[in-house]
Parts: sequence; C-alpha cells; structure tokens
Amino acid sequence: MSAIPTRRIPAVVTLLAVLALTACTVGPSHSAHARQAAALQPTPSAPVPTPSVSPSPTAKPAFKSLAWYVSQVPTFPEAPQPQPVELPTTGSAAFWHRLPTDQKVAFITIDDGGLARPPGVIDFIWEARIPVTMFLNSPAATEHTDYFRQIEAVGGVVENHTIRHNSLAGRSYDYQKQEICGAADKLEGLFGKRPTLFRPPFGEHDSSTLKAAHDCGAKAVFHWTETVHEGKVRYQTPEKVVQPGDVLLMHFRPALMDDLLAALKAIHRAGLTPALLEQYVR
Ligand SMILES: [Zn+2]
Repeated sequence: MSAIPTRRIPAVVTLLAVLALTACTVGPSHSAHARQAAALQPTPSAPVPTPSVSPSPTAKPAFKSLAWYVSQVPTFPEAPQPQPVELPTTGSAAFWHRLPTDQKVAFITIDDGGLARPPGVIDFIWEARIPVTMFLNSPAATEHTDYFRQIEAVGGVVENHTIRHNSLAGRSYDYQKQEICGAADKLEGLFGKRPTLFRPPFGEHDSSTLKAAHDCGAKAVFHWTETVHEGKVRYQTPEKVVQPGDVLLMHFRPALMDDLLAALKAIHRAGLTPALLEQYVR
C-alpha cells in the first residue's frame, strides 16, 4: 500500500537520470526526451534550475555515451576463416601465452566477474560485434548469472577461472582438480555448456594444472601477452605491438568500456582483427 508510491520514487529518479544521460546524445528524439523529462519533474514550490540539454557541438562530452564508444571503434579488415590449431594428445591441456597461429587475429579475454559489471558492456559488445571470452570464477557467475548470460547472448563465451581464485602452482593435483572441475561443473550447470578453456588465477600454474585442466574438460590453458587496465594497454612481450595470436587480458572492472576500446584500437593498429578464441581451439 504505502510501499507502492515509495517504490516509484527511485524508478522516476532512475528514469530522469537515464533521460538526462540520453540528452547528451544528439538525435531526432532529443527534444521528445527533454519534454518527457520536463513532464516528469515534480511540481516544487521553488523554481528548479533547468538542466542544460543543448551542449555546444564542439564541447567535449562530459560523459561517454554508448554511441560515443561505438563511434570510436575502428573498422577492421575482415576476419580470416579460422584454422583451428593443433592440440596435444598427451593427457595434459596445452598452455599458451599466445595462440600459435599466423592468422591476422588477436583475442580479447575478460576475467573474474565479481568486482564490477558495467551494464553498457552488453550493448557495446553487441553493437561493435566484439568477440570476447570470459574467464569467470564460479561464485561470481552464480551471483550474476543474468549479466553474463546477456553477454553470452550477444556472442561472448563463458570459460573457467576456478572457484576461489587462489594460486594453483605447487598445490596438489587433487586440490587443483577440485578448483577446476568444481568451477567447470557449476558453469556448465549455469550456462548449459562445459568450459573448454581455462585460465589459472594470476597465470600461476604447474604441470598438475595442465593435467587437471585436461581432466576437467579443458583443451587449452591461457596466459596472456597484453593486459589492459583503465584504457591503457601494457605489452608483456618484447615487440610492444599486438602480434598474430596475441591474447589481451582485461577484467570485469569499472573501466571495462575503456579497456575494450583500447584493446580494439591496439589490435587495429597492428593490422589485425579481433576473433573468438573458441573458433581456433576446438
Ligand atoms: Zn583472475
């Protein structure tokens, strides 16, 4: 009863906030949004300052809209037909920093999932057609399944990053298997597909990791060649430029939109095209 009106207040506030943000992008519905925003204003006794809804066209946007991010994405050469790489038959998963391929592609990977999940990322991935592999910790995937399912729905693929995010190097095979298979079982239950790739927390691993990963269904274990954080790409290879097969690592953190854009620009500068890891490791 009294809960209904109080619930509506945050909804209206959210709507106003969304409309205010939308007002930053110039479009045909711009004035309609402004009118709706005005209509939704409460009728206060004191005059309400009118928000500036018509920024000068030369002014730098105070906030970066989805449209801005999409507009900054470079045009890539068409992705080549993927030639899947050869996998070992030794009973251990392959381990790579860089996928062994000469094809002109690089790979975007996003780790963890517990810290932050910017909502704009879903539309950005869809609108810019960004291929992403998500190495998730199973508790984060369990708590925020809906978010990751939405990224899956726009082409992302969920892979395995253990349960507890502890370093595996030096731990017993049984401990490692429990961490890797436990997460794989959970992720398979949540997303309907068993992970086929694994990334050890902090990249730290030993031979038991590769054996346990194999025994839990992983075909390959990935480290990385570049990290991306707060819109900056850091090269961990001597070339200081993205190479064919490179794997860029970023995280589900607040600046993920900037990180995705920075990764795309670095891949483009290298004359490569982003591609999906799972098309090369089958
Ligand atoms: Zn991690």
